[in-house]
Amino acid sequence: PNGLLLYTEQGHCILANEEVARMVGASVDLLLKQNFRELQSWKASGLLDAAMHALGGEPVHKLLNFTSTSGKQTDCQVTLMPLEARGQRMLLVVAKDVSALMNANRELDQLARRDALTDLHNRFAASERLRDEFVRSQRSNVAFSVLLLDVDHFKRVNDTHGHDVGDQVLQAVARQIKASVRASDFVARFGGEEFLVILPDTDAQEAEVVAEKIRRAVDACELPVVGHVTLSVGLSEWRSDLPDEGLLVRRADEALYAAKGAGRN
Ligand code: GH3
Ligand code: MG
Ligand code: MG
Repeated sequence: PNGLLLYTEQGHCILANEEVARMVGASVDLLLKQNFRELQSWKASGLLDAAMHALGGEPVHKLLNFTSTSGKQTDCQVTLMPLEARGQRMLLVVAKDVSALMNANRELDQLARRDALTDLHNRFAASERLRDEFVRSQRSNVAFSVLLLDVDHFKRVNDTHGHDVGDQVLQAVARQIKASVRASDFVARFGGEEFLVILPDTDAQEAEVVAEKIRRAVDACELPVVGHVTLSVGLSEWRSDLPDEGLLVRRADEALYAAKGAGRN
């Protein structure tokens, strides 16, 4: 099932199987006419360096992503190794198509960053994005803001109507938040009934407008069974003297608790 190529030290191809031809989308005949030392694709992908290293005596493993001539994206695990045959040094290349595995890994990466209930980003994804935005602002000196939102008296919803209805309320709140912000803003479920919104390139004054828009949208939303819920929002803005993004979130949390204390909604 593996693609196989055999080259002389000078670069001439003396063996190519059907599988490697299928992977790259070329005929065996064409591959047999090629000299790897002259191939632009080998140079650009780092395969040429790997080949030189392998001819020096050490096998090299490489993970390659390439587009075949038919336009198909393929992930290949390639091993290049030296070989003595017919009294000559040769280069053996073994290529294994790992596209299915890599695609599954990419899907898992996505799943690991999604909240299953609301389909928003999850806390893990939020931490990554907070770090990115923090680093970006440190460099550009352009502020970003975060909103921490928590559903008011949510325990009552669960206690009165049950957990399933509670879950539906969280899904509805998630939709309202998402619909109230720009596509470039970032919305995550940060905890049970807590959400985090990251607003890139947004100062506190602008962020307050967004917070109020979300608060109003949730307040105005008619929910089946429950009728109506509200949420409270804490806001904090990046400042150049902040040591890390953790403090930014803690300040939003403090503001959120002040909002709860000041009457919620
Ligand atoms: P406050 O206004 O002070 O925020 O009051 P609260 O009742 O919302 O606060 P509290 O933190 O006491 O309660 C949060 C509740 O959210 C308790 C927990 O059972 C519920 N909860 C957390 N995660 C989920 C979930 O995934 N689904 C459901 N249905 N409920 C959840
Ligand atoms: Mg809470
Ligand atoms: Mg709450």
